[in-house]
Amino acid sequence: MRILIHNARILTMNEHYDEYLRGWILVEDNIIAALGEGTPPSNGATIDETIDVIDANGDLVMPGMINTHGHLPMSLFRGLGEDVDDRLFRYILPIEREAITSEVVRIGARLGAVEMMLGGVTTTADMYYFEQEIGRVLDVAGMRGVVGQTLADFDAPDHKSFDQGFGLVDDLRDEFANNERITASIAPHAPYSTGPKIMERVAEYAANNSGVRVQMHLAEMKSELQWCAEHHNCRPVELVDRAGLLSPGVILAHCLEVTPREIEVLSERGVTIAHNGRSNAKAGRGIAPVEALRQSGINVGLATDGAMSGNTLDIFAQMAPASMFAKLLGGSRKCLPTRDVVKMATIEGAKVLGLGDKTGSLIVGKCADIIRVSLSSARMTPIYDIYAALVFSANARDVTDVMINGKWVVKNGETLALEQPKVLADALQTAEKFNKIVQRIDLSKH
Ligand SMILES: [Zn+2]
Repeated sequence: MRILIHNARILTMNEHYDEYLRGWILVEDNIIAALGEGTPPSNGATIDETIDVIDANGDLVMPGMINTHGHLPMSLFRGLGEDVDDRLFRYILPIEREAITSEVVRIGARLGAVEMMLGGVTTTADMYYFEQEIGRVLDVAGMRGVVGQTLADFDAPDHKSFDQGFGLVDDLRDEFANNERITASIAPHAPYSTGPKIMERVAEYAANNSGVRVQMHLAEMKSELQWCAEHHNCRPVELVDRAGLLSPGVILAHCLEVTPREIEVLSERGVTIAHNGRSNAKAGRGIAPVEALRQSGINVGLATDGAMSGNTLDIFAQMAPASMFAKLLGGSRKCLPTRDVVKMATIEGAKVLGLGDKTGSLIVGKCADIIRVSLSSARMTPIYDIYAALVFSANARDVTDVMINGKWVVKNGETLALEQPKVLADALQTAEKFNKIVQRIDLSKH
């Protein structure tokens, strides 16, 4: 299969940030075979009757976006108990205990996958329960994913003991061992919900299973600092480090509560970080020191977190807040410039997930994870700086077509593998069930 997209503005996000104002890109099977400026070469090697030729009409063609942290099925909780301070304990955990089954996880994961693909996200990291189901949904959808089975001690819906939880990680690892797009991962929920012994066991598991990456929430909030101080007389980074869990390839979500010395330790250990600025702000938690983390050499990607926390799974909605929060923290317009933000949304995000050699930039030989973004709306006119336009003007609705691993998954704003009306209807039906539980909880508290 060969696809040629021409008459496109191409943003490569390669190491030189090459851009072609009127360019073309050739995809062969699942790989980017060639790209360049101007008219594609017509010497027979490129254009013949077997090729699907697409005129991009001056639209932008750029790498698919990378969501480095999220919980797909939590899309079903979007907006539930908004503005209620204890909503996690009041609503979410009781609903999870009562109503989260593999079927509900499948329904929520489909909803999340549709939203992400329509918004130009081609790769996502996920951690939740029944993670095998989520891997299967992403596989059917045609997405790329790093899927992490969560381990937690708060009465998880899919495991009653950590032994059982590790068994689920084994199943996940075995099912996706040879999958091109889906990578299995192990996800100890957080220090306070797993404890040092389990974190040590996870470190050992990761050392014995080199393909299985670790994902974890870390240094996210004040209550976590208190828990670590009270139970272990230290701070979160030290506790996790003592357990041997900080090593190259570990993906840490949040990292708000880190000191300059701890940033050095994180950098020395070779970890990567998922920045969930919007979700953190909505919870009133604070601002992660993104610039200090990146200046120490750590790769930091953008992330949505679950839609319960951030309400959206599109990376466009994360870009402006990421830049604005860094500017607020640093007290200057110069902080976290727009080009860096787009980098975090693409190639740097891919590196965070260990997929930098496969995706995140448009380079010959890489997998064809490509999105087309319309530049013809009023909000995208004029464009002096494409990075500024993407970060501060564009939104997910500007994405018209999405290709992952050489296959179209969105065409003209419609998902292909997942049937959107059915996905939304199933989600609404599940939300009705959740609503009944919410009403019961509210009545019992009066
Ligand atoms: Zn999270």
